[in-house]
Amino acid sequence: MHSNTDVLILGGGVAGLSAARELERRGIANLVLEARDRLGGRIHTLRDAAWPHPIELGAEFLHGLPRKLKLPHRFSLRPRDADGEHWVVDARGLRQADGAAEDAMNLLGEMTGPDTTADAWLDKHTKGPQRRLARQFVSGFYAADPKSVSTRFLVEESEASEEVHGERMFRPTRGYDTLVQHLARDVKAHLSTQITRVTWKRGRVDVDATDALGHARSYRAKKLVIALPLGVLKTNSVRFSPVVDGLQLARKHLEVGPIVKLVLRFREPFWAKHRAKDFTMLHFTNGPQQAWWRCRPFDSPVLVGWSAGPQAKKQPSVDGALHAFERAFRVKNLSRLLDAALVVDWSADPFARGGYMVQPVGLPSPLQQLFAPVDDTLFFAGEHTSFEGHAGTVHGAVWSGQRAAREVCDCG
Ligand SMILES: Cc1cc2nc3c(=O)[nH]c(=O)nc-3n(C[C@H](O)[C@H](O)[C@H](O)COP(=O)(O)OP(=O)(O)OC[C@H]3O[C@@H](n4cnc5c(N)ncnc54)[C@H](O)[C@@H]3O)c2cc1C
Repeated sequence: MHSNTDVLILGGGVAGLSAARELERRGIANLVLEARDRLGGRIHTLRDAAWPHPIELGAEFLHGLPRKLKLPHRFSLRPRDADGEHWVVDARGLRQADGAAEDAMNLLGEMTGPDTTADAWLDKHTKGPQRRLARQFVSGFYAADPKSVSTRFLVEESEASEEVHGERMFRPTRGYDTLVQHLARDVKAHLSTQITRVTWKRGRVDVDATDALGHARSYRAKKLVIALPLGVLKTNSVRFSPVVDGLQLARKHLEVGPIVKLVLRFREPFWAKHRAKDFTMLHFTNGPQQAWWRCRPFDSPVLVGWSAGPQAKKQPSVDGALHAFERAFRVKNLSRLLDAALVVDWSADPFARGGYMVQPVGLPSPLQQLFAPVDDTLFFAGEHTSFEGHAGTVHGAVWSGQRAAREVCDCG
């Protein structure tokens, strides 16, 4: 049975929802198709009485000044400053290093010159601890492999981040899913609808899907916004007939950085009597997780661990994390204080297949070309289509959805 509308939107993350809202605002009928039984995609907030506050299993921070990010309904998110003391854990032990992350971020902005890999650039221009920290930052923050990630990409991302004051980070204290709820208001969406095939020609699109019970569903529209994650597009689990050239190139040349989050709830803060007791962020130059942070501004005994890039390919271990803390804080037997642990591996998620987009060196065409509208019929959205250097962020995904909706309208 065919369900008909003007525009179909594949994927109910913030990119797809932003496209839907913008189309709705312009009076264009549309329908969002989403594989999961919830909207929001890589925004996934856990609300559970056992936890002292909302826990973000996916996106966690607003990277930049909220007014610059222009997220819809940003006031209802109650963004609050989430930064504080930074400490580094290295072979010399635990030491305060405020500004370490900022220094590494600034260094990325200096990676100008011919496009090369981050490793090649760092080998030439840095040494010792600075190089190690910068490599950790490239893999940790950008989920990128320093051996292959493009310096041009890192410079673009770092310049774009500077424009919004990305060195500042804010926590949506009411939970990031508040944004999803606002975006989803009045949006028409079919949940538990997994897209398997798109057949298209100018002015007509047929989409095949299966519902939660495995029943086939068909949809037809004049135009299609593809807001599926790059990781899913790369697996080829959604077939396009005929193939879309830009998408083929993107699948081949763009990468998705793996990310694993480890969330630990302790019975009490084991750090309370240590000289580092006021830390917000711990950067490990060598450890299973590149960084651990407290959920500021909340003062809770919850720590969030982050492995990204090549390090996230290793199996995460709660014991390994506890041992790293025991060594750094010179405490014993931390497992007795551990109350709960969550491991979230985004590469294992069939509807994400990774953390976010990374550009390796040698991309044959700019993103604008790869994800340009096709035959006034296919349009692209999603964090990986952020042309302004805001890939891998919530605001980049929101803006991409709004752009795709404008493109739909502009082509008449
Ligand atoms: C662990 C982690 C931490 C992050 N931290 C931050 C942060 O602190 N700050 C920040 O700004 N950004 C952060 N990000 C990035 C941010 O989450 C993303 O950039 C943004 O949420 C992507 O939105 P999107 O709509 O492009 O994709 P998604 O949210 O992935 O939406 C795509 C949708 O498509 C659906 N889908 C997939 N396959 C199918 C199919 N076959 N059929 C139908 N639907 C399908 C998915 O279920 C999903 O809902 C983080 C990401 C991760 C993974």
